[in-house]
Amino acid sequence: MEPHQEGTRDLSLDLVDAPSPNHDARPDGGPIDTLVLHYTGMETGTAAIARLRDPDAKVSSHYVVEEDGRVFSLVAEDRRAWHAGLSWWRGHLSLNDRSIGIEIVNPGHEWGYRDFPAAQVGAVIALCHGILGRHPIPGRNVVAHSDVAPERKQDPGERFPWAALAEAGIGVWPGAAPDEARALPPLSIGDAGTGVTGLRAVLRRIGYRVASEGAYDRSVAVALTAFQRHWAQHRTDGVADGETRWRAGRVLGLATGHVRTA
Ligand SMILES: [Zn+2]
Repeated sequence: MEPHQEGTRDLSLDLVDAPSPNHDARPDGGPIDTLVLHYTGMETGTAAIARLRDPDAKVSSHYVVEEDGRVFSLVAEDRRAWHAGLSWWRGHLSLNDRSIGIEIVNPGHEWGYRDFPAAQVGAVIALCHGILGRHPIPGRNVVAHSDVAPERKQDPGERFPWAALAEAGIGVWPGAAPDEARALPPLSIGDAGTGVTGLRAVLRRIGYRVASEGAYDRSVAVALTAFQRHWAQHRTDGVADGETRWRAGRVLGLATGHVRTA
């Protein structure tokens, strides 16, 4: 007999042991209910892995996925890896307590941001399948580092193929807006009124740390830019055009179970 499905999926991974000392105990009793994806943002994967294993750097992740699809295991999932830093999602601070972190090798916006190769994306999908089989992580809690730390972080960025992951059952994906939604007027910094209040509410309910009241200020633009990097990748300028506004409502609908995919 074959082992159960989760084990079978894991066997498809070319897992390399590369232990990091940079971890500690998770707080007692908390669930592991969030998955945070990153890019390494360094010139090479080798340099990134070395840093994530350097005791002086005091950073780590549970896994690193190289561009050729090799997966390195750095920290055991029951330990707290140090990947997210100061962070917030759906009312929770310090996402390291309750998350698994995956670093995906890419030079990032600083060193020459480029597409994620198919072999790498396939390995990320296989790795995520295993993780989602072991922990109760809802689709809405499969997030980017930029979602949980939008003031500081851009990773894994707008080239990351979140749609392909969602197609494989990992995370939620809104799809494209219908024509009439695309015609909604754009909202941007300086705007105020019910449209802005509504957008604040949607961003908050998705999980971003945005105040409920106020005009379209920098804080809204920052959260919206993070939303765009993940769910509306056609632009990342913090302007809420019709496409982005529709997708935000759709992500919330999927997150709360009010909208289901076919
Ligand atoms: Zn990151």
